[in-house]
Amino acid sequence: PKKDISNKELISYRKKHLGKSLSLQYKQPVKMVRGFGPYLMDPFGKKYLDTVNNVAHVGHENYKVVKAGTDQMALLNTNSRYLHENINELAKELIETLPKELNVLHFVNSGSEANELAIRMVKAATGERDIIASEVGYHGNSNMCIDISSYKFDGSGGNGAPENTHIFPLPNAFRGKYRGENAGANYAEEVKILVNQVQQKGRNIGGFIVEPIISCGGQIELPSGFLKKSYEIIRNAGGICISDEVQTGCGRMGKTFWGFQLHNVVPDIVTIGKPLGNGHPIAAVACTQKVADKFANGMEYFNTFGGNPVSCAIGTEVLKIVKKEKLQENALIIGEFLKSELKKLAHKFPIIGEVRGQGLFLGIELVDSKLTPLKEQTNYLANRMKDHHILMSVDGPDHNVLKIKPPLIFSKTNAKELIYFLKKILSEDFMNSYKKDKS
Ligand code: PMP
Repeated sequence: PKKDISNKELISYRKKHLGKSLSLQYKQPVKMVRGFGPYLMDPFGKKYLDTVNNVAHVGHENYKVVKAGTDQMALLNTNSRYLHENINELAKELIETLPKELNVLHFVNSGSEANELAIRMVKAATGERDIIASEVGYHGNSNMCIDISSYKFDGSGGNGAPENTHIFPLPNAFRGKYRGENAGANYAEEVKILVNQVQQKGRNIGGFIVEPIISCGGQIELPSGFLKKSYEIIRNAGGICISDEVQTGCGRMGKTFWGFQLHNVVPDIVTIGKPLGNGHPIAAVACTQKVADKFANGMEYFNTFGGNPVSCAIGTEVLKIVKKEKLQENALIIGEFLKSELKKLAHKFPIIGEVRGQGLFLGIELVDSKLTPLKEQTNYLANRMKDHHILMSVDGPDHNVLKIKPPLIFSKTNAKELIYFLKKILSEDFMNSYKKDKS
């Protein structure tokens, strides 16, 4: 066994020799040594309930996925220039879940690579380079992805939107620019204004990218009608519509397999990442025949690791498990149970301003009576939950949204445990201190 190195030593080495902009979770970082189901375990054998990791889709270290990977790894791993069943099989598994129009796949290694390729496709298909994206959206870590990620370029260390990126306001119907019934139409009108502005400069729109629930924005559900109307506006201008399903895809929404299906639209391109490999780096881009034809303009697309037999064996097994074990249905049942229990908590604790989301992709926003975001309390809550061995994360532009996006195998017992401890911490003095601040 490896020598047990103290957390202090691990931190001090990281500080000296690992990237300076890497961050650590929690005031007192935790070391994890193994995972199983919805749990992670620390070196002392303490288990933590993971309500955050939407990568470990079918459960941490799922035996069938591990076996599919190790069996194939022992046999062969090469690039996709050789014929192999695995890449075809994974394509078939994915196509089965998608609308019939989306039936061409490219395999890559991360969500960033998927969005990078999607934007290349937009440029090849339209000849345009102007992209419309959401405020506080995040689409990946590569150059192009950062250029369309307001979460990064509008945040610390960023330099604002580049010339070819156009940002519509975060479509937050709870506390954003437009609220209430007409919010969807009003935010879509903002998209229209951006299209007009680009056209007035003598250019046209290449593409439009958004997540069906904007995760870094604080689990923001797109208001009703927004996506359908925006797609119409973009398509009328000759643009391409991308649904970033890196977080929302593969059954997590409960009611639907993909997030865009909640809005009765069919994108031209869908990007798929995190859950597809259950922790193994594999991602994909699904597109229409039309987009694929335009992209195949003579330049070969080569990706050393994308679509290799090991990754494809793993991706296929993940999708088979989601289907066979009815995990989309579980996301719906457990997600709705959790949402209704969280709403009961919101009733009891007015600090919870809104509970939102779909399936096992939920958010709890903490505000005071004037809707002022309560960052300190949110941070306290996440850290106190960790003291009780429940892992949660905080997001949103004001750092006041707790995210719940556990492995899809999350059970009712897990949900009850989460609610029990949330209730306990919400009752603590610090969580009510904001009321005293105001008086
Ligand atoms: N798109 C979205 C919506 C994401 O949340 C992320 C990662 N958080 C990415 C793209 C990039 O994926 P990756 O980190 O796998 O490159």
